Amino acid sequence: MLDGTSSCQVAVIGAGPAGSAAALTLGRAGVHVLLMDRARFPRDKTCGDGITGPGLHQLELLGLGGVAEQAGGVSHRAIRFTIGDEVAEVPYADGARGMVRVVRRRELDDRLAQAAAGLPTVHFVTGVEVTGFDLDGPGPRLHVRSDEGTTEELTVPALIDASGALSRIAREVGMFHRRDPLPLAVQSYWTGVPGLRDALEFHFGPALPGGYLWIFPSGGGTANVGCGSFWAQTPKALVGEVERFLAEHEFGAQLRRGRRTRAWRGGFIPVLHDLRSRGRPGVLFAGDAGRFCDPLFGEGIRYALESGVLAAEELLRHDLRITPETIACYDERWQESFGDSMSSLFRLLLSRADTGSGFDQSRYLEAVRAGVREFARTMVGVSP
Ligand SMILES: Cc1cc2nc3c(=O)[nH]c(=O)nc-3n(C[C@H](O)[C@H](O)[C@H](O)COP(=O)(O)OP(=O)(O)OC[C@H]3O[C@@H](n4cnc5c(N)ncnc54)[C@H](O)[C@@H]3O)c2cc1C
Repeated sequence: MLDGTSSCQVAVIGAGPAGSAAALTLGRAGVHVLLMDRARFPRDKTCGDGITGPGLHQLELLGLGGVAEQAGGVSHRAIRFTIGDEVAEVPYADGARGMVRVVRRRELDDRLAQAAAGLPTVHFVTGVEVTGFDLDGPGPRLHVRSDEGTTEELTVPALIDASGALSRIAREVGMFHRRDPLPLAVQSYWTGVPGLRDALEFHFGPALPGGYLWIFPSGGGTANVGCGSFWAQTPKALVGEVERFLAEHEFGAQLRRGRRTRAWRGGFIPVLHDLRSRGRPGVLFAGDAGRFCDPLFGEGIRYALESGVLAAEELLRHDLRITPETIACYDERWQESFGDSMSSLFRLLLSRADTGSGFDQSRYLEAVRAGVREFARTMVGVSP
């Protein structure tokens, strides 16, 4: 199953945006990388499919500026937030960050993984799941099972865990706690929707406590529609809430004239809420495995790309060894780049709204307004 991997210098678990960005960065520097994913590619990923300007900029920095267009989808020049009765449209400035794009993850992630796999230094293996690990030896020891039923063990010199929101290693080394916030989201696709705007749309309001609904037009009357929530208990309960909202609320009127083309799918949005270390001797955590999603509206692709690159760069700077110093440098870089601002945003959003004796929606919306103002100022340089 893993023939030809004995020369591997770094193993990467997961070929989503974080893992592919890490493998590309290392592979281009001449490092032998084993990139593993349990899925066969192309694979689906439950997602809103929205990439903001800074996310597209990350792709450009990786030399993959054209990939989002090649993967299809459409571009928009604004994000529109409806917060209670107010509407704030955040137009993107011109230039490198001048648009947002809605593109199917199946297409985008496949192109990113293939860009990495195209390097002679990157060995990309699909249909291979990491089912266990041991971090106590000289290098991480991984238990691996193929989708054909064979199993294998391998010891790797260094590991980047980019295996997504449910990373087993992150949980088992105690990086996150069971009570840490992990919002749920549900998502589906719609067609035949008239009058869709040329913008990503978010709705925050009293009918969706602690959450938001999105409509991301994807061209020709189609849209990616979904809802994220800090408070939903189960995907089924969240779907019930969303369907009630769409049936009754004016915001859903345009969707009611279209048709849902796929069952709702659920997933977790691992929002960044703390500045704990994202490393253990032998392993760095990138993307959703590091819980690097924005707490305001769940953006994660951009931070997956960026953290994958940062993890790879710190490995390169430290002779491919993940020592406490490598981890400290990685922590410093993600915290400085996006961690500090995101964790303050999280505190703004939730510490104000969660009063201890319950959830205060009006304080949540007040914090969302402040968050949107901050988003507009720092991300696109405008004040709505
Ligand atoms: C409903 C929903 C909507 C979202 N909408 C948006 C949005 O519009 N815009 C945005 O920017 N972000 C959005 N996000 C967040 C975004 O999807 C993630 O932040 C992003 O996919 C993280 O990339 P990643 O590479 O870290 O992980 P992933 O994309 O999850 O990739 C992880 C990979 O690891 C593989 N894997 C997992 N476990 C193992 C294992 N044990 N062994 C081997 N392989 C393994 C998986 O097969 C997968 O390919 C949304 C999330 C959800 C749930």
